[in-house]
Amino acid sequence: MKIIASISRTNEILEKFNLRAKKGYGQNFLTDPRIVENIADKADCNDACVIEIGPGIGALTQMLALRAKHVLAYEIDTKLLDVLAYSLEGLDNIEIINEDFLNCDLAKVVKELKAKYGRVVVCANLPYYITTPILFKLFESEQQVDKITVMMQKEVADRFSAKVNTKDYNALSVMSQYLYDVKTIIKVSRNVFNPKPNVDSAVVQFSNHDKIEVNDQNAFFALIKACFKQRRKTLYNNLREYLKDGIVAENILNKCGLTNNTRAQELTLEQFIKLYEVYDYERKSLCED
Ligand code: SAM
Repeated sequence: MKIIASISRTNEILEKFNLRAKKGYGQNFLTDPRIVENIADKADCNDACVIEIGPGIGALTQMLALRAKHVLAYEIDTKLLDVLAYSLEGLDNIEIINEDFLNCDLAKVVKELKAKYGRVVVCANLPYYITTPILFKLFESEQQVDKITVMMQKEVADRFSAKVNTKDYNALSVMSQYLYDVKTIIKVSRNVFNPKPNVDSAVVQFSNHDKIEVNDQNAFFALIKACFKQRRKTLYNNLREYLKDGIVAENILNKCGLTNNTRAQELTLEQFIKLYEVYDYERKSLCED
């Protein structure tokens, strides 16, 4: 079987089907077999079913199918269906679904796949224009997958894995690190794609971890987003705006041992959890009064 992820094979397939990568769908095809094999190896899928988002012409799909029990791939571009049938011919553990991943009933799909295959992981070279919505769909699903290994624009990867007190640390970092252990595992040059994108990329891995769970994740995430709403402002100012009450905001900060000069980017995940718990307590006491 010919490896799809090479410069020559990619050109051959694109020419055969008279295809041009669609910018609007974030199509940048990987053409370096070592990178693709490395991603598939790291996906931890040998005993699992993999969900792939955006198989393109099948470069990563092929490597995943050679390792995993089953691959379920969502591709929005109808034109790629014939291409995939051709490029992946001979591999019988792949199912391609012609659907926008953002519209799929993820919890139902993951539940069924878990019942059939045991473990379910996600691995993809993401369409960059919807990296965050795709990840939040995975994060917020009632049915969690065991591991997510995805390539994205390097700058976005930096935000997901950013540590406290750094320039990239933001609401996205806190929310994703609450849910998962987050690590950048591979750096990828812009030179290994056809067409070549304007940015470098990185593969980020999200692994399930034991966490201190808050009682209402949506309320917790809303509070985190509010705390970072205006990065230049203090935590107090952002909180005051969110709560529409300066006295309550100050009271919450005091109870957390924080001052009116603290900024959101100085708070660790544990401090955000504490902030949420105090906020939740105050909110409920105010409702009772
Ligand atoms: N996996 C291939 C590779 O690594 O060479 C292609 C990756 S390319 C960056 C992103 C792929 O996602 C494209 O094939 C694109 O058509 C597909 N795509 C874009 N938006 C999508 C969506 N909402 N749902 C499913 N697939 C999508």
